[in-house]
Amino acid sequence: MRAEIVSVGTELLLGQIVDTNAPYLSKLLPELGITLHHRSTVGDNEARLIDTLKLALSRSDIVFTIGGLGPTQDDITKETVAKVVGDEMVLDEDSACSIRDFFASRGIEMPESNIKQAMGPARGKILPNPMGTAPGAIFETQDDKIVVVLPGPPKEFIPMVGERVLPYLREHVGKQSGIIKSRILRIAGLGESSVEDKVKHLLKSLNPTVAPYASPGEVHLRITASAVNSDEASVLIDEMDRKIVDILGDRVFGRDDETLEQVVVESLVRRGLTLSLAESCTGGLVANRITDIPGSSAAFMVGVVSYANQAKVDFVGVDEQLLIDNGAVSEPVARAMAEGIRRRSKTDVALSITGIAGPSGGTPEKPVGLVYMALASDMGTNVEKHQFIGSRSDIKCRSSQSALDMLRLFLLNRP
Ligand code: ATP
Ligand code: MG
Repeated sequence: MRAEIVSVGTELLLGQIVDTNAPYLSKLLPELGITLHHRSTVGDNEARLIDTLKLALSRSDIVFTIGGLGPTQDDITKETVAKVVGDEMVLDEDSACSIRDFFASRGIEMPESNIKQAMGPARGKILPNPMGTAPGAIFETQDDKIVVVLPGPPKEFIPMVGERVLPYLREHVGKQSGIIKSRILRIAGLGESSVEDKVKHLLKSLNPTVAPYASPGEVHLRITASAVNSDEASVLIDEMDRKIVDILGDRVFGRDDETLEQVVVESLVRRGLTLSLAESCTGGLVANRITDIPGSSAAFMVGVVSYANQAKVDFVGVDEQLLIDNGAVSEPVARAMAEGIRRRSKTDVALSITGIAGPSGGTPEKPVGLVYMALASDMGTNVEKHQFIGSRSDIKCRSSQSALDMLRLFLLNRP
């Protein structure tokens, strides 16, 4: 079953608003055995909407339109779909009642233009919209194609998809074909090419497929299986997941939406350990990421952004002479920052970061992107030296990523 999404709205076309509805729907289709082949955007213009719909119906079995259901003159989607599929629009009494109730409950008299929203396809069905006045519709064409017409506002679109469209699709198309399911394995501490190199033979697999993606400071491997049902797809995915973990080991830190900070916070809390931070070039980014995680207060005690040298002396307890002898971006200073903040905060673990985020400030001996990070605990202090590339924000992001990963691996190897 091939599908296509047409987002309707001039404001989408011009980039004034971002299309979040189409990606939302795209993610739900594979599990129903529906393959999305095209996604397009068209302005509020009847002639161009007609062209787009005709093209979509010529190559897809099911077309979803999003937006343009309102009562105003520029909202023309439903009428235009009716025209293209050769259906008549008739007044749906239930919808007319709901729209009148919608206004009555708000103590407003219904504008006459709103009655147009209660019109639905003669062949097909209306999709009620409890969150607004514009109902959606499902058109069924004479050659067995389907056009699902949905409202634009996400607070109306999302419930209509969940409560009306998915059940309809499960009943009408779900059984005919298999399903597609995926899982993302998230990897830290290895570059994209080195991950690809290690799992090269698995990238040739046809079912499930494995595809690598690089995102800032981590690599994702997406495993996608097609099978007759969700359980069988899961079996295929689990098997591939194990093969990848056998190769990459603890470089795989999470799955799907799991983030590095989430894994780190859970790991700290589970072990009952407390954390402090002394950040320089990341400007508090690690603290920010840690505190994004609900429940982090059980582990995270304090973070100091000791940006200036004097702040490293005054607030973290770094020896002034150490800074004079080695410079702020150095192994000894990273070490002293971690040990200093750990001593002052009395936490179990402390992490420090000091580096040159650029774009200026680099020298031949200490180029932009040079970052030292240290981890201090009752087992001593480890220092790592990194050379990152990229913009200022790339370097900050990669530094925070590596620091969190350093902490993750430390916790993993701790009983
Ligand atoms: P209304 O009754 O509010 O006019 P509608 O179904 O006619 O609803 P549109 O007029 O196309 O929808 O869009 C209304 C608003 O909904 C847009 O201004 C925008 O804020 C939001 N919207 C529309 N389409 C999308 C989309 N694809 N993704 C995210 N938001 C959208
Ligand atoms: Mg509108």
